[in-house]
Amino acid sequence: MTQQTVAPMTSRQRVLAALRLEPTDRTPVCNPTSVATVELMDLVDAPFPEANRNPELMAKLAATSYTELGFDTIMPVFSIIQESSALGCSVQWEQKDNWPTVRMNQPIWSGPEDIRIPADFFSHPDVTCVTDAISILRKEFGDEVAIIGKTMGPWSLAYHCFGVEKFLLMSLDDPDKTKLCLDKIKDLTVEYGIAQIEAGADAVTLPDHATGDLVSGEYYDRYLQDLHTEFAERIPGHIILHICGRTVDRMGSISKTGMSAFHFDSKNEPQESMDIVENRIALVGNINNPQTLFSKGPEDVRTEVFDNLEAGVQMVGPECAIPLQTSIENLKEIPRAVQSWHADRAL
Ligand SMILES: [Zn+2]
Repeated sequence: MTQQTVAPMTSRQRVLAALRLEPTDRTPVCNPTSVATVELMDLVDAPFPEANRNPELMAKLAATSYTELGFDTIMPVFSIIQESSALGCSVQWEQKDNWPTVRMNQPIWSGPEDIRIPADFFSHPDVTCVTDAISILRKEFGDEVAIIGKTMGPWSLAYHCFGVEKFLLMSLDDPDKTKLCLDKIKDLTVEYGIAQIEAGADAVTLPDHATGDLVSGEYYDRYLQDLHTEFAERIPGHIILHICGRTVDRMGSISKTGMSAFHFDSKNEPQESMDIVENRIALVGNINNPQTLFSKGPEDVRTEVFDNLEAGVQMVGPECAIPLQTSIENLKEIPRAVQSWHADRAL
């Protein structure tokens, strides 16, 4: 997709073009999930857990992906628990060096009859924190850089509210009941997505953790393909679906949903993934987190970036939310490698 004839673009133009599968001046570097690190928190004095709950700090920490790391996107929703907190789940907010998590041993729902969206959901501080942070960032950066939000899919929200095991058992025992649950949750995903687009986001990441290690591709077709197609129709902005793990068995179905991009894991080879999606959806990824970004060096990061670029992956970035102790040097290597790859090809 990349052509040397394309005029220089701003980061935002570059990302939007890639999301539309249009030519770009160079491959954009994107983080559809989180690139927050302890080092970056210290640098701008915006630490966890406050940066997950205070819109100014959230915006400040998120902006570092553009201002410090040189990425083409800013993504202020570091965690996956903002909605669950507002739904009433018990959240362990942790400290600077740890992710906030939902206490899964304290589920709030046990069947579809329990599903209820609290009347004050959209005014809950953990929900408005995200839309406020997006507004702050849009005001500060204007049209310079792409801003990405995040709205959790119903499958992921069900894990938090029913407990992972309980929900997976339900999906095995009672498909109708499972579908009813997803159906009762789905409007929340749509409405929060719309709220973030209205606040100024160019795209929303939609994590829906029907992950490779927990469920099969057939599950994706049965439970999620239609829902995800509906999301693409109802949310008036770009959607980047995020599912971890090995997902080549569902990428064909994902590519038919009408969503703009799929954020894919390093358990899938860039080229085999590109061959499956056949340009029906953009791919973003897939630099390995636990080994490469966390424990190896810039040379190894560069090799993986090049693998993605050679395969024609439209947007390059970490495969998932990066470990909080990842070094800034490794993260900066991603845009550096992208730029040098394109410079070499221009010669
Ligand atoms: Zn993930």
